[in-house]
Amino acid sequence: MPPKKAAKKVEEEVPKKKIKVPQLLRGFRDIMPEEELYWARIEEVITRIAQDYSFNRIRLPILEQTSLFERSVGKGTDIIDKEMFSFVDQSNNKVVLRPEATASVARAYIEHGMIDRPQPVKMWYEGPMFRHDRPQAGRYRQFWQFGLEAVGSKEPIIDAQIIIMCHQILKELGLEVVFQINSIGTPEIRREYEMELVAYFKQFRKQLSDIDKKRLTKNPLRLLDSKAEGMDELKIDAPQIVDWLDDNSKEHFMKVLEYLDEMEVPYELNPFLVRGLDYYNKTVFEILPTKFEGKNANAIGGGGRYDGLIELLGGREGTPAMGMAMGIERIVLAMKHQEVELPNTRQVQVFFCQLGDAARRTGLRVFDNFRTQGIPIAEAFGKGSLKAQLELADKQGARVALILGQKEVLDGTIIIRDMESGGQEIVDSAKVVEIVKKMLK
Ligand code: AMP
Repeated sequence: MPPKKAAKKVEEEVPKKKIKVPQLLRGFRDIMPEEELYWARIEEVITRIAQDYSFNRIRLPILEQTSLFERSVGKGTDIIDKEMFSFVDQSNNKVVLRPEATASVARAYIEHGMIDRPQPVKMWYEGPMFRHDRPQAGRYRQFWQFGLEAVGSKEPIIDAQIIIMCHQILKELGLEVVFQINSIGTPEIRREYEMELVAYFKQFRKQLSDIDKKRLTKNPLRLLDSKAEGMDELKIDAPQIVDWLDDNSKEHFMKVLEYLDEMEVPYELNPFLVRGLDYYNKTVFEILPTKFEGKNANAIGGGGRYDGLIELLGGREGTPAMGMAMGIERIVLAMKHQEVELPNTRQVQVFFCQLGDAARRTGLRVFDNFRTQGIPIAEAFGKGSLKAQLELADKQGARVALILGQKEVLDGTIIIRDMESGGQEIVDSAKVVEIVKKMLK
């Protein structure tokens, strides 16, 4: 047998392998169980209110043809020019992780002949979107959106209904928000307006940032979204699209505002709100949180009318539509900022404690009997000491602890402990659910 000392030396000389720990991709995040409480609450409210207004859920694929978004969102937008997670797959198809879902809804509407259903077809979706944007607070490369879409009606009441629903959802979640709203009319008047806008900003060409100089030729409307220094002052005297609106767009906009007044939706007119995407026309809006986040708060959501999109993608001519999308991460952020309290959905009433192997085995059944009776019960099967288990029961606010040891298993009994008084009684294990039920009443 080799001497012990020598063996130890060999062990020391072997260098420890450095294992590289896998990491999240930049701009991607895990939604941790602590945050899930917010998500579950948001999803519950969204699902209920969408159902109340007869919007049905559509589940769309995450991967789509790249051309779908190039044609709909439009070249010259940041999403298309810079932010697409686009690649060629094994079958040589150019595909993309969807950057948004309105285009997918429009594709689905056409592909499934939804034009033959009663109009408007009202749908909602929720799921992850992908944009290769510069990550920062509240801006991720994978983020979740919830959206409402009503395809097949040109009535202004549909625009209002979607905005009203957004308000109701956010109000129910305990958030204070303001809606910014504008009308960008028809593509025809927008072209005239864009010429005027370019003429105006050209006077100040030297003062513009490089990006804004490019916008002058590529996408002039985006000049109005510019956050570059000095732009706020320049915008003050810039031409406003409302002055270019055709009669039909003007009348449509007035009606939308009337309906919003009727339902007391808090809104502000923002003559410079244009939204970045090509497919919008007439009503456009954005939702901003009002409390604690100041002027530069990230938008919670936005949307508008897209009367040209279905036709643009090859659907029936003149099919109108209206929709909106909200970012779930942004709602969660606003709920945290505004210190919204979440309703406690599952308060533990009973805590099951076990001592010894037989008690663990029998305990599985006891636990399940409570669970199937709908009594909120918790356990710590992984723990051995009674003290530790009772501490957990206390921490979780259980009113009753059940204690099962070797002796109780043999006798067919179980101990019920009142967590407040500390009083205990031994009962027949076959009757324990009924007895505890009465105690909890
Ligand atoms: P959009 O489709 O750009 O109008 O975005 C609608 C909403 O989605 C925004 O108001 C945000 O709440 C959310 N959103 C958009 N981009 C991001 C992002 N990169 N990270 C997180 N949320 C986002």
